[in-house]
Amino acid sequence: MVRDVFGEEHELFRSQVRRFVEREVAPKIPEWNARGMSDRETWRRAGEEGFLGVNAPEAYGGAGADFLYSSIVMEELAYGRAHGMMVSLHSDICMPYLVTYGSEEQKRKWLPGAIRGELLLGICMTEPGTGSDLANVQTRAIRDGDHYLLNGAKTFISNGQIGDLFVVVAKTEPAAEPPHRGISLIVVEAGTPGFVRGRKLDKLGLRGQDTSEIFFENCRVPAANLLGAEGQGFRMLMEKLQQERLCIAVASVASCRRALDDTVAYARERRAFGQPIAAFQSIQFKLAELATEAEVGQAFVDRLLAAHVRGDEIVKEVSMAKWWTTDLQKRLTADCLQLHGGYGFMLEYPIAMDYADAAVQSIYAGTNEIMKVIIARRMGLG
Ligand SMILES: Cc1cc2nc3c(=O)[nH]c(=O)nc-3n(C[C@H](O)[C@H](O)[C@H](O)COP(=O)(O)OP(=O)(O)OC[C@H]3O[C@@H](n4cnc5c(N)ncnc54)[C@H](O)[C@@H]3O)c2cc1C
Repeated sequence: MVRDVFGEEHELFRSQVRRFVEREVAPKIPEWNARGMSDRETWRRAGEEGFLGVNAPEAYGGAGADFLYSSIVMEELAYGRAHGMMVSLHSDICMPYLVTYGSEEQKRKWLPGAIRGELLLGICMTEPGTGSDLANVQTRAIRDGDHYLLNGAKTFISNGQIGDLFVVVAKTEPAAEPPHRGISLIVVEAGTPGFVRGRKLDKLGLRGQDTSEIFFENCRVPAANLLGAEGQGFRMLMEKLQQERLCIAVASVASCRRALDDTVAYARERRAFGQPIAAFQSIQFKLAELATEAEVGQAFVDRLLAAHVRGDEIVKEVSMAKWWTTDLQKRLTADCLQLHGGYGFMLEYPIAMDYADAAVQSIYAGTNEIMKVIIARRMGLG
């Protein structure tokens, strides 16, 4: 079906991104998967091409384009299986904290480098003892003259090894009641003494992308690195979660389409009992069902994209899309793997990695259980 959420200009942009992914990103994926990390040169190239921070303001080097352009970058990278380069994390999840809550000085200092792909971003929320229960973070940022003294441990931090600048969720007032009122967001530059990168974690999927522990050991950060005001961190996080979760849904549907396209091609080629397996009605029905669900997911996501660009408050609907599309991606990749027979279990067949990569989608950016908690609350339940 024609996706009418995009105009002609968007489609021109899509062909540029697709060419970049095919020519400059796809050849790097095996190396990234082996190394467990992407490379800075490709990030810089993406910056040069104008594919980072596309909807950041022009005054700082962005294109000031609407969020649909960002979603095109996400879709093309997901369709190209280029999970090693988490552009959505950099451009659409972390960068908006600087754009919306940063002071003029902070924006001038960090945004141009981030948009050029020279300053890679990450966000440190999760800790070994707490993920879903964000208000319970234990990392402390205690004011000491014109600095904050940070102490604490973070884990599962994407871009933890390659990243240069991290938005850190910390308690500036550990005794605040309720606890979320004590939370602030502080930007920490990777070279700061006391900022310590821990292990690069060994993961089931997203093999080409680095996820790490990060420690703050008496890390002295200028007070000028506070985003917004003290105690406002939780509110800022909540305001930005709509977009973060929409990013996951956008990428999920694109990944579904790729797994499906490849499986349809495989079913046409692979022969059993003297005919292509695609001639078996049970296989046709399975693929027809999956294609239907991918279309349903796409239609929902496109509707949310249009609403998000309009500026609508769609937290409930985005939470629905996040759990539904990622759940679909897990089922769909499992079914597509099955249709590949034994080859589906071999890592040289991309569907095997699709299956592994899908597993995390229902976990990060708020687990699917948490999505249902949000939906239920907004339905007036509990
Ligand atoms: C590859 C990867 C990359 C990540 N990148 C980042 C990153 O860049 N930055 C960052 O800060 N974090 C990151 N995370 C962390 C991620 O956001 C957390 O893992 C996630 O929020 C869940 O937290 P948890 O692991 O502590 O699980 P827990 O919160 O301990 O949850 C365990 C289980 O209990 C369920 N549960 C918890 N509370 C409820 C409830 N109220 N009702 C019902 N069920 C509940 C959960 O749904 C889950 O199934 C990443 C994680 C992974 C795996």
